[in-house]
Amino acid sequence: MLNLILFGPPGSGKGTQALLLKEKYNLLHISTGDMFRMHTKNNTGLGLRVKEIMDSGELVPDSITIEMLEEEVRNNPQVRGFIFDGFPRTVPQAQALDTFLEAKGEKIDAVIQLNVSEEEIKSRISAREKISGRPDDDAVKLLKRLEEYFNKTIHVIPYYTSQDKVSKIDGIGEISDINISICEIIDGI
Ligand code: ADP
Repeated sequence: MLNLILFGPPGSGKGTQALLLKEKYNLLHISTGDMFRMHTKNNTGLGLRVKEIMDSGELVPDSITIEMLEEEVRNNPQVRGFIFDGFPRTVPQAQALDTFLEAKGEKIDAVIQLNVSEEEIKSRISAREKISGRPDDDAVKLLKRLEEYFNKTIHVIPYYTSQDKVSKIDGIGEISDINISICEIIDGI
């Protein structure tokens, strides 16, 4: 199996790159943000529980997120591997993922960190807000998401650095060039 984590702040291009990588390497793309949005759109029990939290720009509690993620992995036993996008976003999530994969005899192969400046993030998300319709893309909510990122999510990087799994990529530039850089890392695993 090939299991990748795409890591980066909001608007760093994780989703865009995931779509290219899943085709090339035949992997299943799991975006916890997309999954939560699907639940809120369909007014499922889970969706109703997380809608307010998501709209505010805060992180959904670990227990809910981990359970949803593990169920999605369990439901797809035949795949060649996974691209995790937007997960793990906290150290407890990363630990839970390691424990879960280990029990299946699997592991994370690489963590690809997309580096994008805060200024670029703000400009990308404000452009996206016009088309995304996402309540959390407004400027004030974005600040909350960035705060969550710098307070909670960034600590995932030292966690995986200690396992020697992190590769940093410049996330500013042509989508195709960034994709080439990521593929070089994957092909070198
Ligand atoms: P972004 O554009 O910020 O990368 P996502 O689409 O990945 O956004 O996530 C949107 C929202 O969904 C987050 O702000 C958070 O409320 C919730 N969410 C997604 N993934 C997670 C996670 N792993 N842990 C907690 N909350 C999450």
